[in-house]
Amino acid sequence: MKQVWFITGSQHLYGDETLRQVAADAREIAAYLDAMLPVDIHYVPPVTTQEEISAALGQAQSCPDCIGIMVWMHTFSPARMWIAGLTACRKPILHFHTQYHQALPYANIDMDYMNLHQSAHGDREHASLYARMRKARKVVVGHWKDEEALRRIECWISAAIGLDASQGLRVARLGDNMRDVAVTEGDKVAAQMQLGFSTNGYGIGDLVDAMACVTEAEIDALMEEYQAQYTFAEGAAGNPAAVREQARFEIALERFCAAHGAGAFTTTFEDLHGLCQLPGLAVQRLMGKGYGFGAEGDWKSAALCRIMKQMAGNRATAFMEDYTYDLVPGQQAVLGAHMLEVCPTIAGGPIQIDVQPLSIGGRNPPARMIFEARTGPAVAACLVDLGDRFRLLAAKVECIPAPQPMPRLPVAHAMWRPLPDFTTGIQAWLMAGGGHHTVLSFAVTTEQLQDFARMAGIECIVIDEGLTMDQFENQLLLGDCIWSGRRP
Ligand code: MN
Repeated sequence: MKQVWFITGSQHLYGDETLRQVAADAREIAAYLDAMLPVDIHYVPPVTTQEEISAALGQAQSCPDCIGIMVWMHTFSPARMWIAGLTACRKPILHFHTQYHQALPYANIDMDYMNLHQSAHGDREHASLYARMRKARKVVVGHWKDEEALRRIECWISAAIGLDASQGLRVARLGDNMRDVAVTEGDKVAAQMQLGFSTNGYGIGDLVDAMACVTEAEIDALMEEYQAQYTFAEGAAGNPAAVREQARFEIALERFCAAHGAGAFTTTFEDLHGLCQLPGLAVQRLMGKGYGFGAEGDWKSAALCRIMKQMAGNRATAFMEDYTYDLVPGQQAVLGAHMLEVCPTIAGGPIQIDVQPLSIGGRNPPARMIFEARTGPAVAACLVDLGDRFRLLAAKVECIPAPQPMPRLPVAHAMWRPLPDFTTGIQAWLMAGGGHHTVLSFAVTTEQLQDFARMAGIECIVIDEGLTMDQFENQLLLGDCIWSGRRP
């Protein structure tokens, strides 16, 4: 299991008895956090000298399971002792500004108590160093049993899980970009330097070869699984060969990803040489298993999809596209879908498999899952390449039930209203350069994405209920000044 290291700072001024108590208190807090949080909280005995601090941070930095460091100054710990260690440490940092006792012991407080419980000023000394070093960190304030403090820590942990996933991620790009499209392009080398994930191209022939190795018996077994899990609409019942072709895709694609260590992949309907249809159902199934996906060669969305799925524990997170609108005043909404590839983790009800023509790409009608997405608050996110930097754009939306049935719509879909309202939310999205491909998540929050961006050192722009257009435009202009030239 991934670990977060809990490091408590102190110094030798207070004597051994105080330091023993610091250690006991820190161990108790670490044990509580370990029980409450979804990673191992690794307790580090209090550090009191520059050598101990550098050693602890150095070990954390070289530990592959360590995804972040939580620091807390129980007493005062002169911050110059931390400069060397923090300079060498690149793990995400959370400064937990807490205190062992929740209540002040008014009747008994004496100088011994004052010597021991100093985080109110000890953490200020510590925090000033991060500000001075311009070192990214999240600050969480509150007693260690406080629910809101724990929620904010858990948020940061999920972001650290996302960063860890990004750093080890390989995106398999099957075919190149959809021709002439701009928004799905970008600088893969810069992405690898900044976010860690690598994007690697493969010829479609490699997938064709993998498909030839799938046996009929393997397809039979997967077809049984489909029949047990989904209902077959008329088009699928009448064209089992098309469904079998997607089963062949699923097995081949999964083997292909495993063989190349890929956690995400892209396809493009403009490059299907040797294939008789576009992978649809197969891509949906693999997304359901946690793979990231981007259509039309969109490697940025594929990577973001994988990262957000890892942050969410693969709950309710899908590749998505703003497809078409209802612009009738009073019921304005986005209809989100894709040609085929919407992840079933966001399904709000039963899933049907159908086979219908695609009217694009010039191949056989592909099988796909059709369903309506769940409803409620969600986030649509997009990784934008602005040429001189990456911008993570995150918009809060409210997913709604379709106002009317859409019996002829042959794809999985969601409907939503952007915040703060339809026109402002979409105007802001267009001003910020957000693409049509997004990752829609009911599990990942804007706070998690902000934490992730801070850790990764990229800009994060949020569109939410508090947005006003004039402030937003100023924020974008400021962003150009702040972030320009910051790309590695
Ligand atoms: Mn698309």
